[in-house]
Amino acid sequence: MSFGVFLAVTSVVAVFVAVATYLVFRARHTRLKAAADEPLADIASRLISVLATAGMVVDNSLTVLRATNSAIALGLVSGRTIRSPEIRALVRETQDSSTTNSVDFELPLSEGGDIRYLHARAVTIGSGVVLVLVEDNTEARDFESIRRDFIANVTHEIKTPIGAIALLSEAMEGALDDPTRMHKFADNLRRETRRVSTLITEIIQLSRVETSNILAKAKPANIGVVVREALERTVVIADAKDIAVNAKYPDDIFVMGDRELLTVAVKNLVENAIQYSGRKQAVGVGVTARNGHVDIIVTDQGVGIPADEQSRVFERFYRVDESRDRTTGGTGLGLSLVKHIALSHRGEVTLFSQPGVGSTFTIRLPRLVDTAKENARE
Ligand code: ADP
Repeated sequence: MSFGVFLAVTSVVAVFVAVATYLVFRARHTRLKAAADEPLADIASRLISVLATAGMVVDNSLTVLRATNSAIALGLVSGRTIRSPEIRALVRETQDSSTTNSVDFELPLSEGGDIRYLHARAVTIGSGVVLVLVEDNTEARDFESIRRDFIANVTHEIKTPIGAIALLSEAMEGALDDPTRMHKFADNLRRETRRVSTLITEIIQLSRVETSNILAKAKPANIGVVVREALERTVVIADAKDIAVNAKYPDDIFVMGDRELLTVAVKNLVENAIQYSGRKQAVGVGVTARNGHVDIIVTDQGVGIPADEQSRVFERFYRVDESRDRTTGGTGLGLSLVKHIALSHRGEVTLFSQPGVGSTFTIRLPRLVDTAKENARE
């Protein structure tokens, strides 16, 4: 659970406990006559009105005396009526038992639409008046399932090359007097080792982008320098495929950000453009600045991406063609990293692609105008 979610959940629980304790204390320790329960319900109503979370005060005939805006927005309450069957049951149970009760339930926001995962707690505060507070645990649940999926994927992705390395080392032992086979095994060993190393580097980069506030440490970054550096890092794979990347970019356009991460993002796009193109096919990089933003555009005339896969390629570990990636050594993390780097710089990445024609990826970032630019001339 992230610290923010943890803090939110803890504060809701703390408020619930404080409000409930106070009200139960008053109900038990002041000799209130039946008619004097009215002010107690009023106090509860006033207290819940300052809560950002969902809450309501209900009397013994299940009429809602007060509900917070978020209880109304979630559709738990409408007018004086409790709409949620789970909360109605909880209130009845609480009135009957005079203890604190709770229930977890799922709330569909619309027919076939989003589901919120809620936790409701109720306590009676005198003469059948019940206070209900509702926590929304959806984000915490989503976060937990994303974390679980990620760890399962990482484990799977790392196990594959490690298993191959173990097999290759055994095979090498049996081929000590055969230089041709030894060469082949050594080549494969190198490829699998590179795969593990790239995977680990990309996981670290991804976690860095996701956990640190990039803009808080941002410096002016020259996009020309970023593109040049990215091209230098891809020169070996470009040469191997006889591809001369055609690049055009001015040298005086700046953005605020982390130059190294921006370089990684552009490098990933150029690397993909080369990987998913045939020998000698054209790959281009261009930079344009207009209306307060900068576009870094990477195009290729390679295999392209089918329309129904285009939104998915930015997901972690997603690959259009698993079998091809076993040979290119792709991790499926490259574009997810590009997307997170763009977002953490208040930018975005878009894709236009046609199978058999090629792909164009564009990173759009807010342009830095004038002032801090001079500071960047290190
Ligand atoms: P990988 O490490 O597998 O390249 P990415 O996250 O960089 O992972 O890309 C995800 C998938 O998107 C790739 O497996 C590939 O199928 C597809 N893809 C990415 N870039 C291109 C491109 N320029 N042309 C065609 N397909 C691409």
